[in-house]
Amino acid sequence: MKRIVIFSGSGLSKESGIPTFRDFDGLWQDYDPRELATINALKTNTEKVMDFYNMRRNKMWESFPNAAHQSIIELEKKFEVKVITQNVDNLHERAGSENVLHIHGELSKVRSMIDEELIYSIEEKKDVNLGDLCSKGSQLRPHIVLFGEPVPKIKEAIEIVKTADILIVIGTSLQVYPAAELIEYTKEDCETYIINPEIPSIKKKDNRFFITEKACIGLPKLVHKLLN
Ligand code: NAD
Repeated sequence: MKRIVIFSGSGLSKESGIPTFRDFDGLWQDYDPRELATINALKTNTEKVMDFYNMRRNKMWESFPNAAHQSIIELEKKFEVKVITQNVDNLHERAGSENVLHIHGELSKVRSMIDEELIYSIEEKKDVNLGDLCSKGSQLRPHIVLFGEPVPKIKEAIEIVKTADILIVIGTSLQVYPAAELIEYTKEDCETYIINPEIPSIKKKDNRFFITEKACIGLPKLVHKLLN
């Protein structure tokens, strides 16, 4: 069975109503990433950072997987499918994808500030606030890779990309490193499809194909083509 690897970014969830970061209507137009999404911000302004992630977690629970998330499940009829996502929402899982690697963390989890193995799931719309503690008595924090923190799952992601026969890169500006480099680890004969209404500036190659459409149009069309 051929293996398809999906590498997704926030553009995939945009049509579910979850804003991206860098688009004209993205989160960074209204919020300053230095105040909310850095390790320094978490240490110096914990409450503000917790509030930002509460807002994003609640938005996630009010949102639903879209046609693009759902079409990935169709691929499992004919391919072995693995998903690597930069998204911190859980829409891949709620669409039914089982094999999902979150390289930038998950909104539906929080963890201890002093023991990163102490992770708690939040399976509903719920705030986690300053003063909410782990079982060892330390403050809980979002289970999110903040700017300035390492990306421990990147090695696993690279190994998965190396095994792809087909790579589908969807809804990412490819501006966040090291994630953006993942597409360079494919086998020589791997076909790469990049779906994005605004194609990111990356090297052109014979086996890289650009689909300038929104996720909900471009991905179901590609899935149809690959299945037939
Ligand atoms: P980004 O904001 O840098 O880029 C979004 C990309 O999506 C752009 O290239 C844009 O052209 C494209 N896009 C916009 N609408 C689209 C659509 N309808 N269909 C397909 N593509 C569309 O986001 P990124 O590249 O994912 O940046 C990575 C960071 O963003 C990650 O750290 C991730 O954690 C974070 N993020 C995640 C979420 C989420 O979980 N849903 C939301 C916002 C940000």
